[in-house]
Amino acid sequence: MKKEIFLCSISNVSSGGCSEDCSYCTQSAKYDTGVARYKYKEPAQVIKEAKELKKYGMVGFCLVTSGRGLDDKKCEYISSLAKEIKKEISDIHLIACCGRADLDKLKALKQSGIDSYNHNLETSQSFFSQICTTHTWEERFETCENALRADLGLCSGGIFGLGEGWNHRIELLKALRELSPHSMPINFFIPNPALPIKQKKMSVEEALECITLSREYLPNARLMIAGGREVVFGEDQKSMFSSGIDAIVLGNYLTTAGESPKRDLDMLESYGLSIVEAKKGVSMLEGYGLKVAKECRE
Ligand code: SF4
Repeated sequence: MKKEIFLCSISNVSSGGCSEDCSYCTQSAKYDTGVARYKYKEPAQVIKEAKELKKYGMVGFCLVTSGRGLDDKKCEYISSLAKEIKKEISDIHLIACCGRADLDKLKALKQSGIDSYNHNLETSQSFFSQICTTHTWEERFETCENALRADLGLCSGGIFGLGEGWNHRIELLKALRELSPHSMPINFFIPNPALPIKQKKMSVEEALECITLSREYLPNARLMIAGGREVVFGEDQKSMFSSGIDAIVLGNYLTTAGESPKRDLDMLESYGLSIVEAKKGVSMLEGYGLKVAKECRE
């Protein structure tokens, strides 16, 4: 049987101008990265993007906002957006990624049709203060726990190549294993002269080791390759899939352009991989054979 790849896409529904100082992030207002700044994309535009990507087989659709967390206004916007999207498209797994969030707001998102929450731990607890000074790793962990308590699916991962050592990577993976996310986004740092981190692009060999290690620590999670895929792997991406990747981001990333969806689909086909098909009326991951975190913990 062919290995099936889950296709997930991102809509950056509110971009740039973040007051936090995460030193790998182009959306921080502290760095002059020139990313687009806007608040709250029109629902019609977001629905158009989702419908377009669905034509290529996208199943997961993530609504991302910049900024530290989910305040009342943002929560209302995402909730109403989720309702409008689900009205138009039923076979879609909706994810929200809005930073730090408390339990009540996450419950409100769940009620509005959000299926999963994405909040990355990014790196290990002991390395975090070297990449961010405006919030703590513990806050990130707490939000992930809140998402699970709100009965949302949890999507949580990190970014490799920030200058952390293998000990930090293992520490991150152990923390993620505690949370048992259904999906772990794996990002590789993309060097940018406007950012304070001065690390070089990671080598393919090291990136594959990060993927293999993630698979070892999180055997039940979907490992999704996100930012840095094209920069690190270039044209030859086959080895990522044999090392454990089983989901990709289709279309554009948050602030950088991705491959064209058609090109990615051709690539998957040429590697002998098939894609997870959307199922009519099914949005929850259980419908796609994924274990939810609570089951994984037992
Ligand atoms: S809080 Fe999120 S959007 Fe803001 S700088 Fe950090 S990673 Fe970027």
